Amino acid sequence: MIIDGKKLSQSLKDEMKLEVEALARQYGRKPCPMVILVGDNPASRSYVRGKIKATEYCGFDGTLVELPEDCSEQTLLDEIHRLNNDSQVDGILVQLPLPKHISEDKVIAAIAPEKDVDGFHPANVAKLWLNDPTAIVPCTPKGIIVMLEKAGIELAGKKAVVVGRSNIVGKPVAKLLLDKNCTVTIAHSRTVNLPAVCREADILVAAVGKPLMLTADYIRPGATVIDVGINRIPDSTATTGYRLVGDVDYEAAKEIAGAITPVPGGVGPMTITMLMRNTIQCFIHRQNQLHS
Ligand code: NDP
Repeated sequence: MIIDGKKLSQSLKDEMKLEVEALARQYGRKPCPMVILVGDNPASRSYVRGKIKATEYCGFDGTLVELPEDCSEQTLLDEIHRLNNDSQVDGILVQLPLPKHISEDKVIAAIAPEKDVDGFHPANVAKLWLNDPTAIVPCTPKGIIVMLEKAGIELAGKKAVVVGRSNIVGKPVAKLLLDKNCTVTIAHSRTVNLPAVCREADILVAAVGKPLMLTADYIRPGATVIDVGINRIPDSTATTGYRLVGDVDYEAAKEIAGAITPVPGGVGPMTITMLMRNTIQCFIHRQNQLHS
Protein backbone atom coordinates (compact mmCIF):
# COMPACT_ATOMS: atom_id res chain seq x y z
CA MET A 1 0.00 0.00 0.00
CA ILE A 2 1.22 3.48 -0.87
CA ILE A 3 0.22 5.95 1.85
CA ASP A 4 -0.75 9.00 -0.16
CA GLY A 5 0.00 12.05 1.98
CA LYS A 6 -0.97 14.45 -0.76
CA LYS A 7 -4.48 13.06 -1.13
CA LEU A 8 -5.04 12.84 2.62
CA SER A 9 -3.77 16.42 3.07
CA GLN A 10 -6.19 17.65 0.45
CA SER A 11 -9.19 16.11 2.18
CA LEU A 12 -8.08 17.45 5.57
CA LYS A 13 -7.60 20.94 4.10
CA ASP A 14 -11.08 20.77 2.57
CA GLU A 15 -12.49 19.95 6.00
CA MET A 16 -10.53 22.81 7.59
CA LYS A 17 -11.75 25.26 4.95
CA LEU A 18 -15.34 24.61 6.09
CA GLU A 19 -14.28 24.79 9.72
CA VAL A 20 -12.61 28.19 9.13
CA GLU A 21 -15.83 29.53 7.53
CA ALA A 22 -17.79 28.38 10.61
CA LEU A 23 -15.19 29.90 12.98
CA ALA A 24 -15.33 33.21 11.12
CA ARG A 25 -19.12 33.26 11.52
CA GLN A 26 -18.85 32.40 15.21
CA TYR A 27 -16.02 34.76 16.21
CA GLY A 28 -16.23 37.51 13.59
CA ARG A 29 -12.77 36.93 12.19
CA LYS A 30 -10.60 34.23 10.64
CA PRO A 31 -7.49 32.62 12.14
CA CYS A 32 -4.39 34.66 11.31
CA PRO A 33 -0.99 32.93 11.14
CA MET A 34 2.14 34.98 10.32
CA VAL A 35 5.11 33.37 8.59
CA ILE A 36 8.52 35.02 8.98
CA LEU A 37 11.20 34.36 6.39
CA VAL A 38 14.71 35.68 6.98
CA GLY A 39 16.96 35.80 3.91
CA ASP A 40 16.56 34.07 0.59
CA ASN A 41 17.48 30.40 1.04
CA PRO A 42 15.79 28.72 -2.00
CA ALA A 43 14.61 25.65 -0.05
CA SER A 44 13.18 27.85 2.75
CA ARG A 45 11.47 30.07 0.20
CA SER A 46 9.91 27.03 -1.43
CA TYR A 47 8.64 25.68 1.95
CA VAL A 48 7.25 29.11 2.85
CA ARG A 49 5.48 29.32 -0.52
CA GLY A 50 3.78 26.00 0.24
CA LYS A 51 2.73 27.20 3.69
CA ILE A 52 1.30 30.50 2.41
CA LYS A 53 -0.57 28.64 -0.35
CA ALA A 54 -2.13 26.33 2.24
CA THR A 55 -3.15 29.23 4.52
CA GLU A 56 -4.85 30.88 1.55
CA TYR A 57 -6.58 27.64 0.57
CA CYS A 58 -7.94 27.14 4.10
CA GLY A 59 -9.20 30.72 4.17
CA PHE A 60 -6.90 32.08 6.87
CA ASP A 61 -5.99 35.75 7.09
CA GLY A 62 -2.25 35.24 7.52
CA THR A 63 0.58 36.70 5.54
CA LEU A 64 4.34 36.60 5.02
CA VAL A 65 6.84 38.87 6.78
CA GLU A 66 10.19 39.01 4.95
CA LEU A 67 13.40 40.18 6.56
CA PRO A 68 16.78 40.52 4.82
CA GLU A 69 19.55 37.92 5.33
CA ASP A 70 21.68 40.49 7.21
CA CYS A 71 18.92 41.62 9.60
CA SER A 72 20.08 41.61 13.22
CA GLU A 73 18.88 39.11 15.80
CA GLN A 74 17.30 42.03 17.68
CA THR A 75 15.29 43.10 14.62
CA LEU A 76 13.83 39.61 14.36
CA LEU A 77 13.11 39.47 18.12
CA ASP A 78 11.40 42.89 17.92
CA GLU A 79 9.23 41.63 15.08
CA ILE A 80 8.26 38.56 17.12
CA HIS A 81 7.39 40.74 20.12
CA ARG A 82 5.24 42.92 17.90
CA LEU A 83 3.34 39.86 16.63
CA ASN A 84 3.10 38.39 20.16
CA ASN A 85 1.32 41.59 21.25
CA ASP A 86 -0.94 41.85 18.20
CA SER A 87 -4.34 40.52 19.31
CA GLN A 88 -5.31 39.82 15.69
CA VAL A 89 -2.41 37.37 15.20
CA ASP A 90 -3.01 33.74 16.24
CA GLY A 91 0.12 31.98 15.05
CA ILE A 92 3.79 32.84 14.51
CA LEU A 93 6.07 30.64 12.44
CA VAL A 94 9.72 31.46 11.86
CA GLN A 95 11.07 29.47 8.92
CA LEU A 96 14.23 27.56 9.86
CA PRO A 97 17.15 27.44 9.37
CA LEU A 98 18.04 31.02 10.27
CA PRO A 99 21.24 32.80 9.18
CA LYS A 100 24.21 31.75 11.33
CA HIS A 101 24.41 35.05 13.28
CA ILE A 102 20.91 34.52 14.75
CA SER A 103 20.29 32.10 17.62
CA GLU A 104 17.43 29.76 16.71
CA ASP A 105 16.93 28.81 20.38
CA LYS A 106 16.56 32.46 21.37
CA VAL A 107 14.12 33.13 18.55
CA ILE A 108 11.95 30.08 19.27
CA ALA A 109 11.86 30.96 22.98
CA ALA A 110 10.72 34.49 22.13
CA ILE A 111 7.51 33.30 20.45
CA ALA A 112 4.48 33.38 22.78
CA PRO A 113 3.81 29.67 23.51
CA GLU A 114 0.11 30.08 22.71
CA LYS A 115 1.03 31.34 19.21
CA ASP A 116 3.77 28.75 18.61
CA VAL A 117 2.12 26.91 15.70
CA ASP A 118 5.31 24.89 15.07
CA GLY A 119 5.25 23.50 18.62
CA PHE A 120 8.99 24.12 19.12
CA HIS A 121 8.79 26.46 22.17
CA PRO A 122 10.21 24.82 25.33
CA ALA A 123 6.80 25.21 27.03
CA ASN A 124 5.12 23.17 24.30
CA VAL A 125 7.91 20.58 24.27
CA ALA A 126 7.45 20.15 28.04
CA LYS A 127 3.68 19.84 27.66
CA LEU A 128 4.11 17.17 24.98
CA TRP A 129 6.39 15.07 27.20
CA LEU A 130 4.13 15.58 30.22
CA ASN A 131 1.00 14.48 28.29
CA ASP A 132 -0.68 17.88 28.65
CA PRO A 133 -3.56 17.87 26.13
CA THR A 134 -3.08 21.62 25.46
CA ALA A 135 0.41 20.99 23.98
CA ILE A 136 0.94 22.27 20.46
CA VAL A 137 2.47 19.21 18.82
CA PRO A 138 5.18 19.65 16.13
CA CYS A 139 3.68 19.34 12.66
CA THR A 140 5.78 16.58 11.05
CA PRO A 141 5.39 14.08 13.93
CA LYS A 142 1.70 14.92 14.28
CA GLY A 143 1.18 14.42 10.52
CA ILE A 144 2.91 11.03 10.67
CA ILE A 145 0.53 9.77 13.37
CA VAL A 146 -2.51 11.06 11.47
CA MET A 147 -1.28 9.30 8.32
CA LEU A 148 -0.71 6.01 10.13
CA GLU A 149 -4.14 6.15 11.73
CA LYS A 150 -5.97 7.15 8.56
CA ALA A 151 -4.18 4.33 6.70
CA GLY A 152 -5.54 1.93 9.30
CA ILE A 153 -2.11 0.82 10.53
CA GLU A 154 -2.34 -0.95 13.88
CA LEU A 155 0.07 0.70 16.35
CA ALA A 156 -0.58 -0.72 19.82
CA GLY A 157 2.00 -3.32 20.79
CA LYS A 158 3.99 -2.89 17.56
CA LYS A 159 7.74 -2.37 17.41
CA ALA A 160 8.61 1.09 16.08
CA VAL A 161 12.11 2.18 15.12
CA VAL A 162 12.75 5.89 14.55
CA VAL A 163 16.04 6.66 12.80
CA GLY A 164 17.04 10.19 13.82
CA ARG A 165 16.84 11.99 17.16
CA SER A 166 16.31 15.65 16.27
CA ASN A 167 14.11 17.86 18.44
CA ILE A 168 11.77 18.62 15.57
CA VAL A 169 11.20 15.11 14.15
CA GLY A 170 12.92 12.11 15.73
CA LYS A 171 12.26 12.70 19.42
CA PRO A 172 8.69 13.97 19.18
CA VAL A 173 7.60 11.25 16.73
CA ALA A 174 9.07 8.64 19.09
CA LYS A 175 7.05 10.15 21.96
CA LEU A 176 3.83 10.12 19.91
CA LEU A 177 4.41 6.48 18.90
CA LEU A 178 4.98 5.66 22.55
CA ASP A 179 1.66 7.35 23.36
CA LYS A 180 0.07 5.02 20.81
CA ASN A 181 1.51 2.07 22.77
CA CYS A 182 4.27 1.16 20.33
CA THR A 183 7.51 -0.25 21.75
CA VAL A 184 9.91 2.40 20.50
CA THR A 185 13.61 2.36 19.64
CA ILE A 186 15.37 5.59 18.66
CA ALA A 187 18.38 4.98 16.42
CA HIS A 188 21.03 7.53 15.40
CA SER A 189 24.48 7.92 13.89
CA ARG A 190 26.14 5.93 16.72
CA THR A 191 23.72 2.99 16.54
CA VAL A 192 25.56 -0.27 15.96
CA ASN A 193 24.32 -2.45 13.08
CA LEU A 194 21.56 -0.10 12.01
CA PRO A 195 20.16 -2.41 9.29
CA ALA A 196 19.53 -5.15 11.88
CA VAL A 197 17.91 -2.66 14.29
CA CYS A 198 15.66 -1.38 11.50
CA ARG A 199 14.73 -4.91 10.42
CA GLU A 200 13.13 -5.37 13.86
CA ALA A 201 10.61 -2.66 13.08
CA ASP A 202 6.94 -3.12 12.33
CA ILE A 203 6.86 0.68 11.90
CA LEU A 204 10.05 2.25 10.54
CA VAL A 205 10.39 6.05 10.53
CA ALA A 206 13.38 7.46 8.63
CA ALA A 207 14.33 11.03 9.62
CA VAL A 208 18.01 11.14 8.78
CA GLY A 209 18.60 13.59 5.94
CA LYS A 210 20.72 11.15 3.87
CA PRO A 211 19.38 10.48 0.37
CA LEU A 212 18.22 6.88 -0.24
CA MET A 213 20.21 5.62 2.75
CA LEU A 214 17.75 2.99 3.96
CA THR A 215 17.95 0.25 1.37
CA ALA A 216 16.00 -3.02 1.13
CA ASP A 217 18.37 -4.49 3.71
CA TYR A 218 16.86 -2.23 6.42
CA ILE A 219 13.27 -3.30 5.94
CA ARG A 220 11.36 -6.17 7.44
CA PRO A 221 8.89 -7.73 4.98
CA GLY A 222 5.44 -6.24 5.53
CA ALA A 223 6.70 -3.31 7.65
CA THR A 224 5.19 0.16 7.43
CA VAL A 225 7.82 2.65 6.25
CA ILE A 226 7.48 6.38 6.86
CA ASP A 227 10.05 8.41 4.95
CA VAL A 228 10.50 11.88 6.42
CA GLY A 229 13.62 12.79 4.45
CA ILE A 230 13.56 15.54 1.86
CA ASN A 231 16.83 15.56 -0.06
CA ARG A 232 17.73 17.30 -3.29
CA ILE A 233 19.87 15.22 -5.64
CA PRO A 234 21.23 16.39 -9.00
CA ASP A 235 19.10 15.42 -12.00
CA SER A 236 20.09 16.78 -15.39
CA THR A 237 16.70 15.79 -16.88
CA ALA A 238 14.76 18.00 -14.44
CA THR A 239 14.17 21.66 -15.34
CA THR A 240 15.33 22.64 -11.84
CA GLY A 241 18.49 20.54 -12.19
CA TYR A 242 17.56 18.46 -9.14
CA ARG A 243 14.90 16.09 -7.87
CA LEU A 244 13.61 15.32 -4.41
CA VAL A 245 14.21 11.93 -2.81
CA GLY A 246 13.67 10.59 0.68
CA ASP A 247 15.97 8.82 3.12
CA VAL A 248 14.57 5.50 1.94
CA ASP A 249 15.40 3.78 -1.34
CA TYR A 250 11.73 3.89 -2.33
CA GLU A 251 11.87 1.69 -5.45
CA ALA A 252 13.50 -1.18 -3.55
CA ALA A 253 11.58 -0.64 -0.31
CA LYS A 254 8.13 -0.61 -1.85
CA GLU A 255 8.63 -4.22 -2.99
CA ILE A 256 9.21 -5.32 0.62
CA ALA A 257 7.17 -2.95 2.79
CA GLY A 258 3.52 -3.55 3.63
CA ALA A 259 2.88 0.20 3.42
CA ILE A 260 5.15 3.10 2.50
CA THR A 261 5.06 6.88 2.07
CA PRO A 262 6.48 8.34 -1.16
CA VAL A 263 8.76 11.40 -1.47
CA PRO A 264 7.47 13.78 -2.61
CA GLY A 265 3.78 13.39 -1.75
CA GLY A 266 4.05 11.67 1.64
CA VAL A 267 5.05 13.30 4.91
CA GLY A 268 5.78 16.75 3.37
CA PRO A 269 2.18 17.74 2.55
CA MET A 270 0.99 16.37 5.89
CA THR A 271 3.46 18.64 7.71
CA ILE A 272 1.97 21.73 6.09
CA THR A 273 -1.56 20.50 6.73
CA MET A 274 -0.82 19.99 10.43
CA LEU A 275 0.47 23.54 10.55
CA MET A 276 -3.01 24.62 9.46
CA ARG A 277 -4.53 22.37 12.14
CA ASN A 278 -2.25 23.87 14.81
CA THR A 279 -3.24 27.37 13.68
CA ILE A 280 -6.91 26.53 14.21
CA GLN A 281 -6.03 25.06 17.64
CA CYS A 282 -4.23 28.29 18.62
CA PHE A 283 -7.10 30.43 17.31
CA ILE A 284 -9.76 28.51 19.24
CA HIS A 285 -7.66 28.49 22.41
CA ARG A 286 -7.15 32.26 22.24
CA GLN A 287 -10.83 32.92 21.49
CA ASN A 288 -11.87 30.77 24.43
CA GLN A 289 -9.51 32.71 26.70
CA LEU A 290 -10.92 36.02 25.44
CA HIS A 291 -14.52 34.93 26.00
CA SER A 292 -14.05 33.17 29.35
P1 NDP B 1 18.78 16.46 11.70
O1 NDP B 1 19.97 16.66 10.84
O2 NDP B 1 18.48 17.43 12.77
O3 NDP B 1 18.86 15.01 12.37
C1 NDP B 1 19.27 13.91 11.64
C2 NDP B 1 19.34 12.71 12.55
O4 NDP B 1 19.78 11.61 11.75
C3 NDP B 1 20.35 12.87 13.69
O5 NDP B 1 19.76 12.41 14.90
C4 NDP B 1 21.51 11.98 13.27
O6 NDP B 1 22.13 11.29 14.34
C5 NDP B 1 20.83 10.93 12.41
N1 NDP B 1 21.78 10.39 11.45
C6 NDP B 1 22.57 11.06 10.60
N2 NDP B 1 23.33 10.20 9.88
C7 NDP B 1 22.99 8.98 10.29
C8 NDP B 1 23.43 7.68 9.94
N3 NDP B 1 24.36 7.49 9.00
N4 NDP B 1 22.89 6.64 10.59
C9 NDP B 1 21.95 6.81 11.54
N5 NDP B 1 21.49 8.02 11.91
C10 NDP B 1 22.01 9.09 11.29
O7 NDP B 1 17.55 16.31 10.70
P2 NDP B 1 15.98 16.55 10.88
O8 NDP B 1 15.42 15.65 11.89
O9 NDP B 1 15.71 18.01 10.97
O10 NDP B 1 15.47 16.11 9.41
C11 NDP B 1 15.69 14.79 8.93
C12 NDP B 1 15.23 14.74 7.48
O11 NDP B 1 13.84 15.03 7.43
C13 NDP B 1 15.88 15.76 6.55
O12 NDP B 1 15.98 15.19 5.25
C14 NDP B 1 14.88 16.90 6.50
O13 NDP B 1 14.97 17.65 5.31
C15 NDP B 1 13.60 16.13 6.56
N6 NDP B 1 12.46 16.88 7.09
C16 NDP B 1 11.29 16.72 6.44
C17 NDP B 1 10.15 17.30 6.89
C18 NDP B 1 8.89 17.05 6.15
O14 NDP B 1 7.94 17.80 6.30
N7 NDP B 1 8.81 15.98 5.37
C19 NDP B 1 10.16 18.18 8.06
C20 NDP B 1 11.43 18.22 8.75
C21 NDP B 1 12.54 17.59 8.26
P3 NDP B 1 23.02 12.03 15.47
O15 NDP B 1 22.01 12.67 16.40
O16 NDP B 1 23.76 10.93 16.10
O17 NDP B 1 23.86 13.03 14.76
